[in-house]
Amino acid sequence: MTEEKSLNFIEEIVENDLSSGKYASIVTRFPPEPNGYLHIGHAKSICLNFGLALKYGGKTNLRFDDTNPVTEETEYVESIKDDIRWLGFKWANEFYASDYFDQLYEFAVKLIKKGLAYVDDSTSEEIAELKGTPTTSGKESPYRNRSVEENLKLYEEMKAGKFKDGEKVLRAKVDMAHVNMLMRDPIIYRIKHAHHHRTGDTWCIYPMYDFAHGQSDAIEKVSHSICTLEFVPHRDLYNWLIEKLEIYPSKQYEFARLNMTYTMMSKRKLLQLVNEKIVSGWDDPRMPTLVGARRRGYTPEAFRDFCDRIGVAKRDNLIDISLLEFCLREHLNKIALRRMVVFDPVKVVITNFPEGRTEMLPSENNPEDTNSGIRELPFSRVLFIEKDDFMENPAKKYFRLAPGQMVRLKSAYIIKCKNVVKDSAGNITELHCTYLPESKSGSDTSGLHVKGTIHWVNALTALPIEARLYDRLFTAEDMSAIEGDFKEHINPDSLKIQQVYAEPSLANASTGQSFQFLRMGYFCLDKDSSSEQLVFNRTVTLRDTWAKSVK
Ligand code: ATP
Ligand code: MG
Repeated sequence: MTEEKSLNFIEEIVENDLSSGKYASIVTRFPPEPNGYLHIGHAKSICLNFGLALKYGGKTNLRFDDTNPVTEETEYVESIKDDIRWLGFKWANEFYASDYFDQLYEFAVKLIKKGLAYVDDSTSEEIAELKGTPTTSGKESPYRNRSVEENLKLYEEMKAGKFKDGEKVLRAKVDMAHVNMLMRDPIIYRIKHAHHHRTGDTWCIYPMYDFAHGQSDAIEKVSHSICTLEFVPHRDLYNWLIEKLEIYPSKQYEFARLNMTYTMMSKRKLLQLVNEKIVSGWDDPRMPTLVGARRRGYTPEAFRDFCDRIGVAKRDNLIDISLLEFCLREHLNKIALRRMVVFDPVKVVITNFPEGRTEMLPSENNPEDTNSGIRELPFSRVLFIEKDDFMENPAKKYFRLAPGQMVRLKSAYIIKCKNVVKDSAGNITELHCTYLPESKSGSDTSGLHVKGTIHWVNALTALPIEARLYDRLFTAEDMSAIEGDFKEHINPDSLKIQQVYAEPSLANASTGQSFQFLRMGYFCLDKDSSSEQLVFNRTVTLRDTWAKSVK
């Protein structure tokens, strides 16, 4: 899109900061916690952070927020990197919050020395009790006034492994009466005797999110630290720590997280679907993960276009998934090769076409792309068409095949139905038709104008393939608003498998390649394919069938 678009509120901030000379160039970061696969919501954050740096000539770091040793795995780190590359972005540096553990430890020492942090022996229940409520102020811990020396000694002993999990914590000394509950002496370090995916057993104390995130931003000199709205209450502490530690003044800005209809954006819940085998894995094509969407046939172009169109919101909202599907169709229409596949066949015999003869008919791979060339379709006496494309007693304005009625076979000939053959039970077994040799597509001299065009495949060379037809995985429009068990809102019919008949050229498809099965939808070759059985995922229907069913 080249039309002028108004700036989103973060772009406005960046432009002001650049024109006022506050920064010579910007630094952003994408900070995933490696505790699951990325979902569509993360794509929004990636497009925003990397997009800003690209637009304003800055850089974006990829920083793994790996301060919680228990939930993080190397598998997730690799998949996250893969997803970002797939979306089309390059990070300037690959960092890990765990790389900063030494420095963060020193930051904490600095706070203690300034009299701004203390070791607290209270249990988590006691700490919670003294916190107060949003309307009443908290009470000071009996350990709050330990001397600097004692705090330094205890903190060092915490690090040395002298205490058990939960026995002591390090807290920032802020204000127990602060209106923002997160400022009431927040915990900044806790004891956790756990193996870390990168630092191994070096540490048994780990910084809390609030003590790691802003400090990591400052270490990397991140100018604009962009996060989602739930971090608004954390901003006071973010700024307080930067001020007291006298480090680089990174600034936090918040935008609304992406919520989409009939979709769930929570790694924790998606992990549940995987663990409980409700889906086949993180990359199940029904999953709202990027690996799932990619396997289903979504393209990075579609995601980038979508993220661009939805803009950056300051308030929570719910985006209609049909907008993402619209972006996807727009892109697939440009790149997908057209193929003919018959889903529910009925046999057509062309009685005036010689037995044993096969004619090769050229057909455009993609009329939207002049460089896509043609492939040749074998045409002979016996063909398959869709059962639905024939009606024995046609309704008015039914322009497809019917007794005595003509229809065009795409890229081939006009045929006319002469006779309907049935078995003893009255089921249609064959349609006997004649073809008009002079009506060949591209050199039609018949002078006939038939209104209907249908797809077909040659029976002899038809390639049986498996089509996996997906429907939405969740039945509730706003999954983020579900209280109780979200699994009660899983669509039991989200996957249908069908054996269908494809034109032979599909035998050459490569994994992930996108096709438009004429009139049937966009599909791509799935990795489950073998030489005996090709498997295609329906990426999206050609039209928005859901929108139609509501109107
Ligand atoms: P989840 O709740 O799914 O685990 P998260 O926010 O805990 O998500 P992180 O790995 O911490 O996941 O997120 C990395 C970045 O992506 C953060 O900056 C976060 O704000 C952003 N992000 C996560 N979900 C969304 C979303 N739905 N829309 C926009 N940004 C998101
Ligand atoms: Mg998180």
